[in-house]
Amino acid sequence: MNINRRDWIKKSGLITGASLGAPAFLRSISQQENKPVMRIAHITDVHIRPESGIPDRAIKCLEEIKEFDIDFFLNGGDSIQDASYDDVKRLRVMEQWEIWDQFREHIKDYDVYSCLGNHDMWWAAPSKNDDMYGKEYAVDRLNIPSRYYSFDRGGWHFIILDGNNKGVSLDKEQWTWLEKDLDSVRESTPVLIMSHYPILGVTGHFVGGQYTDFEKFKSLFYKHRNKVKLCLSGHQHMLDTAWYNGVSYFCNGALSGFWWGDGNENSAGKGYYLETPPGFTIIELYKDGRFNNQYHPHTN
Ligand SMILES: [Zn+2]
Repeated sequence: MNINRRDWIKKSGLITGASLGAPAFLRSISQQENKPVMRIAHITDVHIRPESGIPDRAIKCLEEIKEFDIDFFLNGGDSIQDASYDDVKRLRVMEQWEIWDQFREHIKDYDVYSCLGNHDMWWAAPSKNDDMYGKEYAVDRLNIPSRYYSFDRGGWHFIILDGNNKGVSLDKEQWTWLEKDLDSVRESTPVLIMSHYPILGVTGHFVGGQYTDFEKFKSLFYKHRNKVKLCLSGHQHMLDTAWYNGVSYFCNGALSGFWWGDGNENSAGKGYYLETPPGFTIIELYKDGRFNNQYHPHTN
């Protein structure tokens, strides 16, 4: 809508009016440009499982999120409690994904762009040829095109990464793809990157968990410094913000907080992981690459 109106003004030669004292209709256009083009919910570390009334509590969070009139969801991984430990059996994996489907059903009218978390894959399947083994099955259950992918929406470019590789990193194939993908993005197009693990952050100093190839990311992002604006992550269940070379890095807590439990002696409050309460994030994106990233604690 903005674009059409702008084009019309350009064509009609009225744009010059802007510098000549801004008539009322031009003021209203700049107000429009000051509105976000998208509002997104970033949820991460949902860790859903059937016990302790967790499905209902998680669904309550979705109802809270819907109040924000969002356009779509970004889901940062660890969608299910865990499929990754050695003792996890097939039925347990299936049961958790079924609960995930029920959770997902409550937001069936929204697009949900997910990435793979470390707890989403079943590595203990009887064989690597098993239909439920590894990443392919999780990709399938999350209904995403691939373990890493990108898409365009609202004038922004979104990149979803899979850091579940040696030492938390991108594998060679994915690095090649990412370099190409960023090259192909038109100059000055704002880019948002989501991954399960933080690329850069504060919380890594306390608990580890960030990418080991962060220097490579730094160099690549510097090359594309007119494009890359923000990187989102989860995994830590902690909230932090880092900034470097014009890129903001947000680790946005966890919907499950202390895995839906009350916490332990290090929890600053009920359900907290260390000092971070359970919550979700609402992100507003503007046409010119500006953004707001706001964490909302919940008490479900
Ligand atoms: Zn997690």
